[in-house]
Amino acid sequence: MQNFNVDIHFDLMMFVEEQRRRGRKNVIKEDHIPGFREGNFRLIVSSLYIDDIFLPEMALRKCLDQISGLYQEINESGNELKLCKTYADIEALKETDQIGIMLAFEGVEPLYNDLDLLDIFYELGVRIVGINWSRRNYAADGSFFAVKREGKKGGLTPFGVELVEKAQELGMIIDVSHLNDEGFDDVVYFTRGPFIATHSNSRSLVPSMRNLTDDQIRIIGSRGGLIGINSANKFVSNEDETNNIAAYVDQILKIRDLIGIEHVALGFDFCDFNMSDDFKKQMTAKGRPFFNVVRGHSDVKSVEKELLRRGVSEEEIRMVFSGNFLNLMKEYL
Ligand SMILES: [Zn+2]
Repeated sequence: MQNFNVDIHFDLMMFVEEQRRRGRKNVIKEDHIPGFREGNFRLIVSSLYIDDIFLPEMALRKCLDQISGLYQEINESGNELKLCKTYADIEALKETDQIGIMLAFEGVEPLYNDLDLLDIFYELGVRIVGINWSRRNYAADGSFFAVKREGKKGGLTPFGVELVEKAQELGMIIDVSHLNDEGFDDVVYFTRGPFIATHSNSRSLVPSMRNLTDDQIRIIGSRGGLIGINSANKFVSNEDETNNIAAYVDQILKIRDLIGIEHVALGFDFCDFNMSDDFKKQMTAKGRPFFNVVRGHSDVKSVEKELLRRGVSEEEIRMVFSGNFLNLMKEYL
């Protein structure tokens, strides 16, 4: 079994901060580390996601609360957790049994229109900049999960252009998951080098605007970026009856066939086990229930088994489960 797995998209701190607000401590240690360990996950990219109800005024506060919560959880964990800001931090994990956490924006709402705050978030450890969630913000328009009544879409705003340029200067990598197609084109135009999609699948397999077209996938590949495969049912398969690990592996292999296995990673987007009813309602499109096809971090074993069954080598699996992301971080951080 692979022994240094990386999940490049998990809404960890949103869930943890909610729990801490109710007075709990050591939430990651109690609720999540057992699953991480069972699945041999050694590095988790935690997104910083702000629920609609906190926008716009509370976005900055909630984001800082999530980061502060992580800092406190690390202290409480007795050295079991470690914030990773550099590639050396990630490398050092291999000498210990610590679990590394990296931070990523899932929407830049915490900045609102103040780009100077980006330097502060860099200092605090944010290394991946997901420009938006599936809604409009000051930087860009998001892609919706299902068709909505809406006016004309836009690409990156002037603020969005400055954001992607500054993020790259600082050494933060751009994440296009949730961005709409117009914004994607703008990221291609206004960036150099690799950018990533932390949790998006193939739109030719599942026609959701949250998934990537073949052309977009090819561009990410040609830039040396990578794509984390999302395990949320409605991005994995069109039919819930056949929505299973094999369908998840179909998504991995689809991206591999287009741009090579070196551009694929795991971005499970686990959230069905602890999302609020409100959030669930938002995520439920046309009455289809929301669930993760992969059942938590320990279930990565099933993905590994299915990949082996489909003829993917252990070395290629290692690339998807960790190597590709680690190589990118080595080059980028
Ligand atoms: Zn997301």
